[in-house]
Amino acid sequence: MERTLSIIKPDGVQKNVIGEVVKRFETEGIKIAAMKMIQLSKIQAQGFYEVHKERPFFDSLTDFMTSGPIVVMVLEGDDVIARNRKLMGATNFKDAEEGTIRKDYATDIEKNVVHGSDAPETAAFEIAYFFNGLEIQNR
Ligand code: ATP
Ligand code: MG
Repeated sequence: MERTLSIIKPDGVQKNVIGEVVKRFETEGIKIAAMKMIQLSKIQAQGFYEVHKERPFFDSLTDFMTSGPIVVMVLEGDDVIARNRKLMGATNFKDAEEGTIRKDYATDIEKNVVHGSDAPETAAFEIAYFFNGLEIQNR
């Protein structure tokens, strides 16, 4: 059993697709082990995206991530890190496969609806960034 962090980004919340995204996880047998809606401060967004701090899009990305509420979730299931990435589709929606969340709902390389951890180490960091142990259920 594995865990990963999923975020429905401000554009996804704005587009009213929270239920659609959650439905795709549940349809795949992925369990929601924790979930909450929050709005990040600039400093919190910068801390979350620390790995990208040298990238040219860092300032724009962290502004975008603070622009409205987000839904953060811990997903649980076998191989869930890779399975979630597959459901999300490529970073750039133009390269995303048919039927993926980003292909269906993203409008922009930055405003791409969802975030998902990309490895066990990043999943552990990202889950702990948003949730304490008491807030995560064993599903
Ligand atoms: P995420 O980490 O959000 O799940 P990802 O792993 O597919 O997405 P990363 O390379 O980690 O993509 O980039 C993090 C986020 O930064 C992207 O999801 C997107 O919102 C933004 N981003 C990435 N590349 C660009 C770019 N060239 N221009 C603008 N924004 C970008
Ligand atoms: Mg990433």
